[in-house]
Amino acid sequence: MGNTFTQGGATYVCSQCRRRTRYTGAQSLGSTLCAQCWDLAGLENEVSDGFYSSNEARRRAEVLIAEVELRGGSANSWRTTFGLEVK
Ligand SMILES: [Zn+2]
Repeated sequence: MGNTFTQGGATYVCSQCRRRTRYTGAQSLGSTLCAQCWDLAGLENEVSDGFYSSNEARRRAEVLIAEVELRGGSANSWRTTFGLEVK
C-alpha cells in the first residue's frame, strides 16, 4: 500500500477498522490506526502486561468498539481479540 499520508489534516484509512480517519494527536505520528483502534491496541498491551483484568478490559474495549462501529468501521477483529461476541 502506498503511503499518501501527509502531516496536518490529511485523512487515511485505519489499518484495523478500515474507516477513513485523521490524526487527532492521540496516536503516534506514523500510526496507521484511528484514535479508537490506537486505544484498543494500547488496551490489548495493558491486558498482556497484566495491568487490567480481562473483565475490566472487555468493558473498556466495548465502549471503544461501539464508537468505531458507530463511525462506520469494522471492529470484529477487536471483538475477537477481547473475547467479545462477533457481530
Ligand atoms: Zn480504526
